[in-house]
Amino acid sequence: MRDCDVLVVGGGGAGMAAAIEAADAGASVVVLEAGPRPGGSTALSGGVFYAAGTSIQRAAGVEDDVERMYRYYMTINRWNLEPWLIRRFCEQSAPTLEWLIGLGVDIPVEGLYVSGVDDAPRGHHSHGSGIALFEHLLGAASAREVAIHPNVRVEGLLVEDGRIAGIAAQGAEMRAGAVVLATGGYGANRAMLAELNPEIAAQDERWSFYFGSQTSRGDGIRMAREAGAAVVGKGRLLVNASPGFSRDVADFHPPWLVFVNRDGQRFMDETWPYCIAGHRIEEQPGRLCFAIFDEPTRAASPSRHPFADKLGVGDFAYSGDRLAEEVAKGRVLTADTLEELAAKAGIDPVGLAGSVAAYNADVRSGRDRQYFKAGALTTIETPPFYAAEVHAASFGATSAGVRIDPDARVLGPDAHPVAGLYAAGETAGGVLGERYVGGGNYISNALIFGRIAGQGAAVFARS
Ligand SMILES: Cc1cc2nc3c(=O)[nH]c(=O)nc-3n(C[C@H](O)[C@H](O)[C@H](O)COP(=O)(O)OP(=O)(O)OC[C@H]3O[C@@H](n4cnc5c(N)ncnc54)[C@H](O)[C@@H]3O)c2cc1C
Repeated sequence: MRDCDVLVVGGGGAGMAAAIEAADAGASVVVLEAGPRPGGSTALSGGVFYAAGTSIQRAAGVEDDVERMYRYYMTINRWNLEPWLIRRFCEQSAPTLEWLIGLGVDIPVEGLYVSGVDDAPRGHHSHGSGIALFEHLLGAASAREVAIHPNVRVEGLLVEDGRIAGIAAQGAEMRAGAVVLATGGYGANRAMLAELNPEIAAQDERWSFYFGSQTSRGDGIRMAREAGAAVVGKGRLLVNASPGFSRDVADFHPPWLVFVNRDGQRFMDETWPYCIAGHRIEEQPGRLCFAIFDEPTRAASPSRHPFADKLGVGDFAYSGDRLAEEVAKGRVLTADTLEELAAKAGIDPVGLAGSVAAYNADVRSGRDRQYFKAGALTTIETPPFYAAEVHAASFGATSAGVRIDPDARVLGPDAHPVAGLYAAGETAGGVLGERYVGGGNYISNALIFGRIAGQGAAVFARS
């Protein structure tokens, strides 16, 4: 005897999208949510959705289509992804955005921006960010009489006659025609991080920290594995660069910072977008770099974050006062000469002196000839000099997960579906690549494959 047709494990973005679609397909749907309330990382997010060929782009006069998005997505990921998944992702990006708009999510034309390093604006910033977007999903699920039960952490899957028959949680069982795993990623599970992203886990926790939902414990990945699923995408994750002063998201680096590696060499425009900046830093010796600046620049740095309103953050990690505090704590190094600073930080002194001299000459000439950095550039010439150690090791979401096909069916190592099991969002792997295509990649992944999973699960449950 079934308790429902479709059982969704996890009430975040992917889970709620699955529940809505399954209900629209005529299935009876139950959502079990581990937290005291649904939402997960989706509700914490910036609510940016990545898509091509949308009505918002057309309204803004932007020409774009699935083919262009697909080519950019595959190329930035060195074609190292399964085309069938990425094609479906790109094809379903615009329809899913229109679906969100249909549910009442406000996607203003002014919120459209180039969120990656592509040549088209595909980042759609939803008004009210992730919390508002999620409230619309929740409202739509509730309107469809989806039963949502918080405070239920699902522990295992029931397998009968070679197919998934339900779940086990808190000493009880619940039976269903199909199960959708949408428990988010494994950011809050250090042991799973050590297995799937060993380089990140091996770094000092001052820099290697997770800032997403604390219920992202990899439960869905573990349960799917126990039921015979394959896991893909090991080593993939969007890393953020941080000086490690706090556990906040710190993906904005002011243009007056100069990053050098241990060889004292510059290696990037310090203001490059976060979708590529972290990866550039982790490619440096020791997977780190040093942010170099001098006293007048430190003293002039404002306390309010330059993008406080846009990012919804308050304190600015690189404010003058904050830097002075970190100097006092010994977490920012200081010296009266660059040579002395290099010795303290373990940077090659000749390399550092050469890089700073070349950079100062560029600033005086009004142009960063090496990396074309825009913004207010300042020389590094008045002591004391400073060096803050920056690592690319913090993260708000994970990318490795259960292998799925374009219909969000969970696949085993033999590439055959585990009957009756679907996965979406961070629980699923294979859609997020070694590079983040741009702001919105994760939310699109959750909602696009969440919808597909819900549709497929409803059909399977009734077959
Ligand atoms: C601060 C921040 C900002 C971000 N901004 C953006 C952005 O603007 N655009 C973008 O694309 N991405 C963004 N991301 C990433 C994005 O939010 C996530 O990748 C996405 O929301 C994941 O959706 P999900 O449904 O897979 O997981 P979640 O939304 O985390 O939902 C998973 C749910 O499953 C529940 N759960 C876990 N285990 C169990 C269990 N055993 N039983 C029952 N329930 C369980 C959890 O409690 C949670 O509610 C951001 C992330 C953070 C942290």
